[in-house]
Amino acid sequence: MLNGKCPRCRRGDMYVGRMYGLKGSRMYEHCPHCGLTFEIEPGYFYAAMYVSYALNVAEAVTLAVATYVLTGNLESPWLYLGVILGGCFLLAPFNYRYSRILMLYWLSPKITYQPHLDTDDRTKNA
Ligand SMILES: [Zn+2]
Repeated sequence: MLNGKCPRCRRGDMYVGRMYGLKGSRMYEHCPHCGLTFEIEPGYFYAAMYVSYALNVAEAVTLAVATYVLTGNLESPWLYLGVILGGCFLLAPFNYRYSRILMLYWLSPKITYQPHLDTDDRTKNA
């Protein structure tokens, strides 16, 4: 899951490029291994924005706590704001990616892991 593999066969890649590469946000329409359509219905990934938002909030809290632990600063809100905004900016590709991955793994009852597809032979339409 952490490698962005297909939630059904856990073999095929979901994304074309690496996270911070130029093609980092390009996604395959279908799993290159088992042929699963990732975008189950049109607009499906709009819901991923909510997951992405939740990730952002979690990261912002983590960054704020980390800033406090590292600097002990309670005076300047700008320090926190800068760290949080900078962190969110740096983590944006990460959020984009994992919000969709989490969607498919946890929030899509139609897609389950199918071990019989987790094989090396590349049969399509299995
Ligand atoms: Zn697959």
